[in-house]
Amino acid sequence: AALDTLDIVVLLVLLLGTVAYFTKGTYWAVKKDPYSAVLANGAALKAGKSRNILEKMQESGKNCVVFYGSQTGTAEDYASRLAKEGSQRFGLKTMTADLEEYDYENMDQFPEDHIAFFILATYGEGEPTDNAVEFYEFFKGDDISFSEKTSDDAPLSSLKYVAFGLGNNTYEHYNSMVRDVDKIFTKLGGTRIGTAGEGDDGAGTMEEDFLAWKEPMWADLAQSMGLEEREAVYEPVFEITEKPELSIEDTTVYLGEPNKNHLEGLSKGPYNAHNPFIAPIVESYELFNDKTRNCLHLEVDISGSNLSYTTGDHIAVWPNNSGMEVDRFLKVIGFTDKKDTVIGVKGLDATAKVPFPVPTTYETILRYQLEIGAPVSRQFVATLAQFSPSENIKEELAKIGGDKDVFAEQVTKKNLNIAQFLNHIGKGAVWDKIPFSLWIEGLNKIQPRYYSISSSSLVQKNKISITAIVESVETAGAPHVVKGVTTNYLFALMLKQAGVANPDPNGLNYAITGPRNKYDGIHVPVHVRHANFKLPSDPSKPIIMVGPGTGVAPFRGFVQERAHQAANGENIGKTVLFFGCRNSEQDFIYKKQWEQWSKEMNGQFELITAFSRDGPKKVYVQHRLKERGAEIDALLQQRAYFYVCGDAANMAREVNDTLAQIIVEQRGVDKKKADDIVKGMRASGQYQEDVW
Ligand code: FAD
Repeated sequence: AALDTLDIVVLLVLLLGTVAYFTKGTYWAVKKDPYSAVLANGAALKAGKSRNILEKMQESGKNCVVFYGSQTGTAEDYASRLAKEGSQRFGLKTMTADLEEYDYENMDQFPEDHIAFFILATYGEGEPTDNAVEFYEFFKGDDISFSEKTSDDAPLSSLKYVAFGLGNNTYEHYNSMVRDVDKIFTKLGGTRIGTAGEGDDGAGTMEEDFLAWKEPMWADLAQSMGLEEREAVYEPVFEITEKPELSIEDTTVYLGEPNKNHLEGLSKGPYNAHNPFIAPIVESYELFNDKTRNCLHLEVDISGSNLSYTTGDHIAVWPNNSGMEVDRFLKVIGFTDKKDTVIGVKGLDATAKVPFPVPTTYETILRYQLEIGAPVSRQFVATLAQFSPSENIKEELAKIGGDKDVFAEQVTKKNLNIAQFLNHIGKGAVWDKIPFSLWIEGLNKIQPRYYSISSSSLVQKNKISITAIVESVETAGAPHVVKGVTTNYLFALMLKQAGVANPDPNGLNYAITGPRNKYDGIHVPVHVRHANFKLPSDPSKPIIMVGPGTGVAPFRGFVQERAHQAANGENIGKTVLFFGCRNSEQDFIYKKQWEQWSKEMNGQFELITAFSRDGPKKVYVQHRLKERGAEIDALLQQRAYFYVCGDAANMAREVNDTLAQIIVEQRGVDKKKADDIVKGMRASGQYQEDVW
C-alpha cells in the first residue's frame, strides 16, 4: 500500500511538472526537488497522518496553531512556550505544528476567529530552516495557488497571524525569513496582530527580545480576539506513569536508543536527522593541546550506511549529557533513587507529541533527550517559582524571573545551567515539587551538533573527518567553567580509543558505550547534512579560502581534494588558504599535511598564515588579506571563488569588510559600490560562507 501511495504521488508530481513546464516553468522554482519532498514526507504519508492543518485543528478543537521553522530547537521551544501561555493565560485552544508536516494550499480558508503564529528562524545566508523549506517555497512562488479563492487579490483576508523571527545580526540577511513571510502574508491580505518580532542571537539578546516582544503582542491579540486574561495555572502537558512491572532489563524499555529499530538492534536506514547511524570512529587523535584547549581530529566510517557526503557538507553528531550533569540534575530534583524507574509518558492532549520513545526511564530522558546543560531561560525560572521548596525561595525566584537585570546578574553572568541554578538559589534544598512533565515541556530537546566535514569525498568517500575544538568557557565571576556537551563526549571517545580504560575528561563521566553498550567499540551516532558550501566543479578555477582556527576544517577537505586531482594529472587552479591561530608552534593544525599537499600541487597551493600571539603585534587573517589586496583582486577578476569559514560573530564580518576595502583600493570605486560588488558575489555564489 505504501508503494501505491508513492506511485500516485510520483504521478502527481510528474503531472505537476508537466503543467509547470507549460506555465513558464515557474513551479520548478517553487518546489526545487519535488521527489525528495515526497520522500521526506514519506513517514507522514505512510502513517496516514493528515497534512491538512484546518482539519487537524477542527478535529482536536483548536483555535490557535503555533507553527515553527526551527533548526537548533530554539524556535520550537518558543513555539511551545507561546502555545502554553496562550492556553494557560488566555484560554486559547492551542497546538504547535512543525512547518514541514502540513500543506498550505488551504490557508485561504483559515477561520477568522482562529489565529496562526509563525515562529521562524533564519538560517545561514537568509535561508529557511530545513523544516521550513517547502512552506517558504510555497509562499514565495510567483504562482501560489490556493484551493479556493485563486483569483482573489487578497486570498488570505481571513488569516490573522502573529510573527516572530529568530536571527543573527552578524549575518547579512538578518531575520529575512520573518521579514519575507510577513511581507507576503500582508500582501496576500492577511492581518498581523502585534509587531513582527525579531530576536537577535548575534547580540546575545534573543531571549530578552522574545520576552519584550510577546507581552504587547498578547495584549493586542487579547483585544483582537476578545480574550480575557486569567491567572495562569500550570497544567501539565504530559502524564507520567511509573511502571513498576517493568525494569531496565526489559528489552522493550528505551535506555537512549533513538527509535524502535535501534531498540530492537536492527538499526536501518535511511539515516537522517530523525535516525542516526551508529558509526565507528576508526581513527582519532589530538591535533594539539595547551592549558585550556584540546583540539580533536576524528575519522568516522560511514561504510554500509548508505550515507554519502560531498566535500563541504556537515556531519551532525548526536550527543548525550555527561554523567556528572545527569547526577547533579537527579539529585537536585530528588530523583536519584528512582533514576532507573521505568515510566510511560503520554500527551494529555491529542496534539501533544511526546518528543522521545517510551517506555523509558527518568535517567534516560535526562541523559539522552533533554538539553540539561544549556543556559537557563528567564521565563522558565518564573514558571518554576510556584514549585519552590519554600516560600522564601519562591519570592526570590519570582524576583529573578520578573526582572531582566536581576536575572542577568544572578543567572546569565554566572553561566549556570538549570541544576546549578536550582542548587544556587535553593542553597542545597531539594526541588521535589516540580512535576516531571515540566522538564519535558520547559527544556529543549538535545540537539545534534554540526561539524564542517574536514575531508574530501573524492579522496575518502566512506570516511568523514571531523576537526573540533573541545569547548570550555571560563568567564570571570562565574563559579563554573562551562564544558561543551558534545565536544567533551568526543574527547572521551578519543581517549578511549587511545587506550585510556575509563576516560573521564574534566570529571564528566560520559556513558560512552551508549544504551545497553550498543555503541561499544568506539561508535558515535551521526547523520550528514548537505550544505551549499562547494568547490567550483572545474578544478582549474582559482579559489581563495579564509579559515582561522577550526574554521579551516572544510578547507582541509578542499585542499585534500585538489591535491588528489593534481596527483591525477588534472589542471589545478591557484588555491590560496589564509589560516590563523595563536602561534606557529602551538596550534598550527595540519602543518605537515599542508606541506605534503603543497608538494603534490606543484606550486598551485599557497598557505598564508596569521599568528596572533607570535610577535608583539596581533596579526589576524583579515590583516593578511589586506596585505595581499592586489593579488586577491586579480584572482577575483579571474572569477576566483572566495570562501570563509569559522567564527560568525567577528571574523566573518571583518573579512567581508576587508574584501570590500580591497575592492575600493584596487578598483578605485567608492565604498557603496564595493559593498554592492561583494553582495553580488554572495548572491551569485562566488562568495560562500560556512560560519557558526
Ligand atoms: P555546548 O554544550 O553546545 O556549548 C556551546 C556554547 O554554549 C558554550 O561555548 C557556551 O558559550 C554556551 N553554553 C553552554 N552551556 C552554557 C551555560 N550553562 N551557561 C552559559 N553558556 C552556556 N565546531 C568545531 O569545532 N569544528 C567545526 O568544524 C564546526 N563546524 C560547525 C558547522 C556548523 C554549520 C555549525 C552550526 C557549527 C559548527 N561547529 C564546529 C560548532 C559545533 O557545532 C558546536 O557548537 C561546538 O562544537 C560546541 O558544541 P558542544 O556541544 O561541545 O558545546
